Amino acid sequence: MRPIHESIRKNAQYLQLYLVVAALLAAMWGGIAIDLRRAQGEVLSRTDSDLSNLALAFSKEIESAVKTIDLSLVDLREHWDGDPDRFAATVRRRQAYLENELAFQVAVIDAAGTLVFSNLEHPAKAVDLSDREHFQVHRRRNTDMLFISKPVFGRVSKRWSIQFTRPLHDAEERFAGVLVLSVPPEYFSRFYHSIRLPTDSVITLAHPDGVILARYPRTEESLGRSLSGGPFADLDASGSGSFQRISQMDGVERLYAWRRLEHPPLLVFVGRSMREITAAYRQHRARALLAGAGLSALLLLAASLKRGFMKQKARSAKRLADNEERWRLALEAAGDGVWDWNAKTGRVMFSPGWKRMLGYAAHEIGDDLDEWKKRVHPDDLTRTLQDVQDHFERRTPIYFNEHRMRCKDGSWKWILDRGMVMERDRDGAPLRVVGTHTDISVRKRLEEKLERLATTDALTGLRNRRCFLERLGQEVSHVRRYPQHSASVLMADLDFFKKINDSHGHAAGDAALRHFADLLREAVRESDCVGRLGGEEFAILLAETSAHNAQRFAQRLCATLRAAPLQLGGRAIPMTVSIGAAMISPDDDGPEPVLQRADDALYEAKELGRDRVRIKLTTSAPGSG
Ligand code: GH3
Ligand code: MG
Ligand code: MG
Repeated sequence: MRPIHESIRKNAQYLQLYLVVAALLAAMWGGIAIDLRRAQGEVLSRTDSDLSNLALAFSKEIESAVKTIDLSLVDLREHWDGDPDRFAATVRRRQAYLENELAFQVAVIDAAGTLVFSNLEHPAKAVDLSDREHFQVHRRRNTDMLFISKPVFGRVSKRWSIQFTRPLHDAEERFAGVLVLSVPPEYFSRFYHSIRLPTDSVITLAHPDGVILARYPRTEESLGRSLSGGPFADLDASGSGSFQRISQMDGVERLYAWRRLEHPPLLVFVGRSMREITAAYRQHRARALLAGAGLSALLLLAASLKRGFMKQKARSAKRLADNEERWRLALEAAGDGVWDWNAKTGRVMFSPGWKRMLGYAAHEIGDDLDEWKKRVHPDDLTRTLQDVQDHFERRTPIYFNEHRMRCKDGSWKWILDRGMVMERDRDGAPLRVVGTHTDISVRKRLEEKLERLATTDALTGLRNRRCFLERLGQEVSHVRRYPQHSASVLMADLDFFKKINDSHGHAAGDAALRHFADLLREAVRESDCVGRLGGEEFAILLAETSAHNAQRFAQRLCATLRAAPLQLGGRAIPMTVSIGAAMISPDDDGPEPVLQRADDALYEAKELGRDRVRIKLTTSAPGSG
């Protein structure tokens, strides 16, 4: 179970890391994309409005240029009177006048379509020009209008030109021919030079039907070609707009602003190369992408470092867990139970060995501290908890306690409980405490046995001399401290005991000693204390007993023994005892003085004939029995 949990938790941690990195990357690249879009939009809209302004200026320029041409046309028509010589002179004068403004040629065609004047070739060769569009338009319409031709390659001039024409009329207002003023297309691209457009920019003047009248640069190649198709077809009825397209002429992608002139109805285009428009933007984009890539790399590096760190942490956590597992197993193998207590939550991990020690299966005991507490012997609990507290408060370097615990079958086991705080919080309060349980019942039993051996007389089971004197010493101290308490001591010595040994054997003597010990045990109260001081000499400490009562007790004891001879092999062996009594005095500085007084009284009892009691009330004054 544990490794699976562990791997799920670990994977969740990694997933979280990946998600954070992905979110940061997405946010960063999203930000870059938005910034670039905004920057691009800004560049395009700024350029768009610049180009629109240029197209407007260009169209004004064209309008004024066309007006100049038309005025010249109307003015020359006024001077046409059918005489080529005179007209040639007028044309020369006008040309000289407009020399710097406008280079033009003039031709006159008669009503039949025959060239009757050309300032290039005077007198003119009578060429038939009736197939020319302007001638046909003027003859058909018969209104005084300005006609602008598509670029034509002059048969006479051998040069490209745009022809501006107006009809001639005779006195009766009948169609009498056409006056043609030819202007080189370059005339219309002067604008290009006057405003100094960036590299790869283009300006175009077109006929309403899309035929190019003038374009700069590369005028020659483009003349007469049509703009029809592509975005041109979409130019709507509105007077202006913009579009983006790759030029058919030079393959350059441009942003164009266009404008429709009102009079004459021509179209102007101003285009700037996208490359050039977006140069600054592309530089900005390259920088942003580079910075983005750099940040991404840093982020990924940081993430991979973090992942490595997490891996390392997981590895050391696993190593730690393995180590813990190992010592736990080692302790369990050694027969110890292990507990691991979270002092904050009160949860305890009791190892299977811990539970087994008390006779429980692993599932029979939960993980509450109470599982332990409720099984501790009530007499041991207070001391045990105090020991825990002492260690928690750092009064002891380790927690150490021996207490009894109730097993599943109701029996008690002595447990050696050892533990140590492994982790404390900032305030020093224990967080984690780890320890062991060792079953010390066998040792405890042995100790109890040794204790018994050390304090008990082996033959009779009464206290031995050392133990009795110890108890007597305590009582003497008690009386010294509380003089109002009274306590008495009796010294009892079996009469003529040697005879029993001699007549019935040593075993009978032992039996007699045991017999008297049994009678003594029965005669005394719980609070009294009986000991065998040696041989056939016994001592009895009677707590809370006055001299009078002690004497009565001793007399009763003499009577009891007298009435209960030793039964041995079907024979009754009579026994008597002599007893000396003394009271503990607050002046006694130990057990010896009072014992000596009792012994003195005993001596008197023996002297007076045995089987009697003598009492010694004070050091000097003997009492009677
Ligand atoms: P008295 O009335 O003056 O006390 O005479 P007594 O014979 O009882 O006194 P005495 O001190 O002369 O004899 C004590 C005898 O008790 C000596 C010894 O052999 C015997 N004795 C001492 N300890 C033991 C014992 O553990 N077992 C047996 N069977 N006899 C013991
Ligand atoms: Mg004796
Ligand atoms: Mg004796």
